[in-house]
Amino acid sequence: MDDNQSPDVSTFGPGLALVRRRRRFFFATVAIYVPAMWIIHSISPTYRTMGTAIGIWVIILIVTMFWSAVAVCPRCGNFFHVNGMTLLYLRKCLHCQLHVNADKKP
Ligand SMILES: [Zn+2]
Repeated sequence: MDDNQSPDVSTFGPGLALVRRRRRFFFATVAIYVPAMWIIHSISPTYRTMGTAIGIWVIILIVTMFWSAVAVCPRCGNFFHVNGMTLLYLRKCLHCQLHVNADKKP
């Protein structure tokens, strides 16, 4: 462990950790779609069950997407993933280019 971090970047730690956590929820929701549908299909492959499962998944996706979209950049105070009407999951802030792992770099 070295303490070469510039002081301003290290203060972003908690804010960036929050952004990362919300990104993980969103990506996990996307990633779980195929295995979840495969498991549900193997248990009950009816149209109604699949339709209900997809509906629930879409609701969870919208919630996690919204939750991650309102994560605020700790440096510039704008939404990390939103610029105007654009929602982009880049690894940098869309406003000030702060990297999502800036607090982890030496
Ligand atoms: Zn920013």
